[in-house]
Amino acid sequence: SPSRQEKSGYGQGGAPSGVPMGRGMQLRPAKSPDNSFTFGNLCAVSAQDIAPTHEGGDTYLLINGAYVLSARPLPSFPRGHISLSDAQRTWMQVALTDVVEVQPYDPFSQGAQSYVGSMDVEVAFAGKKSTDVPYDQDELAQAFVHTFRNQIFSPGQQLLMDFRSIPMRMTVRTVELVDIASLRAPSGGAQQRRDPAARGILTPESAINFSKDARSPINLKGSTRRPAANSVIRPDFKFEDLGIGGLDKEFSDIFRRAFASRIFPPGLAEKIGIQHVRGILLYGPPGTGKTLIARQIGKMLNAREPKVINGPEVLNKYVGQSEENIRKLFADAEKEQKEKGDESGLHIIIFDELDAVCKQRGSGAGGGTGVGDSVVNQLLSKLDGVDQLNNILLIGMTNRKDMIDEALLRSGRLEVHMEISLPDEFGRQQILKIHTTKMRENGKMAGDVNLSELAKLTRNFSGAEISGLVKSASSFALQRHIKGGTVAALSDDVADMQIHMEDFLRALDE
Ligand code: ADP
Repeated sequence: SPSRQEKSGYGQGGAPSGVPMGRGMQLRPAKSPDNSFTFGNLCAVSAQDIAPTHEGGDTYLLINGAYVLSARPLPSFPRGHISLSDAQRTWMQVALTDVVEVQPYDPFSQGAQSYVGSMDVEVAFAGKKSTDVPYDQDELAQAFVHTFRNQIFSPGQQLLMDFRSIPMRMTVRTVELVDIASLRAPSGGAQQRRDPAARGILTPESAINFSKDARSPINLKGSTRRPAANSVIRPDFKFEDLGIGGLDKEFSDIFRRAFASRIFPPGLAEKIGIQHVRGILLYGPPGTGKTLIARQIGKMLNAREPKVINGPEVLNKYVGQSEENIRKLFADAEKEQKEKGDESGLHIIIFDELDAVCKQRGSGAGGGTGVGDSVVNQLLSKLDGVDQLNNILLIGMTNRKDMIDEALLRSGRLEVHMEISLPDEFGRQQILKIHTTKMRENGKMAGDVNLSELAKLTRNFSGAEISGLVKSASSFALQRHIKGGTVAALSDDVADMQIHMEDFLRALDE
């Protein structure tokens, strides 16, 4: 009903009715009502599009054409958004910043047998050996139905639930469907249908059989353990704080390619047999935000302050000692991995102007120093040496990808390559917005400044040049308030200074 929609957003899934919603929606980290950031994420669904489609009040969304979520209004989520927990994202194989397709789903599309007759659910208790936690089947089933009544379940689905204050991760193994009429028949002679693609609505009459997950316990967020190397995003991360303009696509691609494996619950990547990406290469013209991205990746992951090293510096400053310096660069990560194993935090190393060490490679026999050779070799041995580091991410940067030693670019080394090119008009407008945030917030930008016009006028500008343009415009504005003479002095009205469109245009002409 409309009044209900007005009151709240929809958690677990929002539900549409009739309105086409197939367009892509990007998952973003979500803000919880008390302003602490949750590890959930939101995808924009307009609240007007949401209406209950089922007698129980739940409504259903088809995500990416394959996964059905039950929607239920939750006061803790903002209107017009849905939230996907990390268990749900793991199940749906989507990552933060991925774009998802959302459509309405008709729970009766499979015919009358749309209810769960019985299902098998595997349970893992967070942070404990599952055998350590005694639980009563009936009690657990009651809690389960209470929590998930009217929601849709299908095999493979992953869930989170608190039981006696213990966070539990559950996986649905099998679902058998029935017609609700036979389910409620006094004789109980329900005809069940077993089907790997089964999707059924949970009712209080559904029988649920729990089994303990015999495998190793799974650490969930909410536990007090320090996040491990493969827990990806720090809980207080704010997407809008990134301050990167026009690189949404690049950012989400890097995420999918380089960090998707780290989003899985600890240990899962190993079980599937995939290895975390240990190196990425960002390449493209100077001033386009490569360093910015590298630093922000570090910030948003649970990494320490990244170590930054610069190609020419390694070569000039540390001749004869460069190998030792590379070794040192990795020493902290090695030490922590030795001490804590999989629990180690992630260490990020940013290697700027990586081409500088590669240029030298192979030229050692002639006039070159051969230092480049040893630096590259040292990097290679750190990346794929005998004692491989799992807690390391090396981010190489260059304006010249063609100069990078091919050996460095192979699988297992700097294997994800991302071109960061000059921003397009939309990107330039975003960058202009980012770099004028302060002046706009403080009322220092005059009303006549037209950022979309400036975005048009700054064709072929890099992000760094746009940042320079804003600075230059400010200096023109300031100049109006400087009185000439032998000693420059500020005019009395300097506190009222504002930056006008004219200042930007003069800066452009400069
Ligand atoms: P690169 O490493 O590609 O040479 P940087 O990341 O060092 O470029 O960019 C230099 C500065 O330019 C940044 O600190 C930032 O102020 C600005 N800048 C560059 N690209 C962007 C962008 N896409 N969004 C916002 N600011 C940018």
